[in-house]
Amino acid sequence: MTTTASRFEARPQSGLTPQRAGGSPFLKARDAAARIARGLATPVIPDDYLDLFAPLRSGADLRGRIVAITPETRDAATITIRPGRDWQGHAPGQYIRVGVDVDGVRHWRAYSLTSDTSARDGLISITVKAMPDGLVSRYLVHDARPGVVIQIDQASGDFVLPQSVPAKVLFLTGGSGITPVMGMLRNHDFDGLDVVHAHSAPTADDVIFARELADAPTGVRAIVRHTDDEVMLTPEQLDEVVPDWRERETWICGPTPMLDAFEAHYAAAGRTELLHVERFRPTIVEAGEGGTASLRVGGDSRIPRTE
Ligand SMILES: Cc1cc2nc3c(=O)[nH]c(=O)nc-3n(C[C@H](O)[C@H](O)[C@H](O)COP(=O)(O)OP(=O)(O)OC[C@H]3O[C@@H](n4cnc5c(N)ncnc54)[C@H](O)[C@@H]3O)c2cc1C
Repeated sequence: MTTTASRFEARPQSGLTPQRAGGSPFLKARDAAARIARGLATPVIPDDYLDLFAPLRSGADLRGRIVAITPETRDAATITIRPGRDWQGHAPGQYIRVGVDVDGVRHWRAYSLTSDTSARDGLISITVKAMPDGLVSRYLVHDARPGVVIQIDQASGDFVLPQSVPAKVLFLTGGSGITPVMGMLRNHDFDGLDVVHAHSAPTADDVIFARELADAPTGVRAIVRHTDDEVMLTPEQLDEVVPDWRERETWICGPTPMLDAFEAHYAAAGRTELLHVERFRPTIVEAGEGGTASLRVGGDSRIPRTE
């Protein structure tokens, strides 16, 4: 690479030869300054400067700029994001991986998309519940601010409704597990269908999207349980609450014990094929059991540094 310093060295000024130039205190200082400037700039390529001014441009790593953070409950918020120009869109129910940098380490976590796919402003949103010790979730809910640029991935995941939505659907959600289902509820027309959505949260104040649940779209019957003063909807209660559950294709997302219990119940009833499950936490398979382990859709990576 031709640097300012090397040009100086090749073209002596004021009639000085390179040897003589090297001897002048002024030129020594100039050369030292040039070396420092070169050292500071060398690992940085033009794209790095472009990233500062146009991080969302086409051709750059996919990023998003946070444009709003809207509280949903005391510990959950919807993060509205303007995605980079190369964003390819998503199907309701899919998730993105989000990368944020904390102390030089990039942390990746997955979040379901909750936005309206037809929004003309091109914005997308995720809805995050801050875990008590959660690094990324607490950052996004409590510390991030509009204007912050985060890394994102293209959407992925197959927790989606089929092109032709079944006539009878059951959504079972718990806590923040409502997010992918809200993505579906906001983006499909259920008029003329028979949809039941049973959601559980500890208290009324903990219900994310409470207003939308109270004002469910046509064709959707919402059942909300507050588990602090009512019994959480258990698989055994399905016969009573949704008597025709065996006829309903079912999408379920919530805490691990809830998912495990419903999976076992559907398996015992020979109805596993009805169940579509989204897990926010990995399934741990005990050593020696065999089978498939689902891996965490996230992770931490040290950001490569060039010294
Ligand atoms: C496909 C997918 C979609 C997801 N969608 C959403 C979403 O829409 N909204 C949302 O809030 N989260 C969602 N998650 C969970 C999210 O990716 C993170 O796991 C969560 O935000 C915690 O990350 P953290 O960095 O804050 O916690 P960490 O710092 O990783 O962990 C802090 C503590 O919380 C525990 N913990 C981590 N994750 C969970 C969890 N999910 N449930 C209970 N305890 C946990 C850890 O064991 C640890 O003790 C999704 C996960 C997946 C795989």
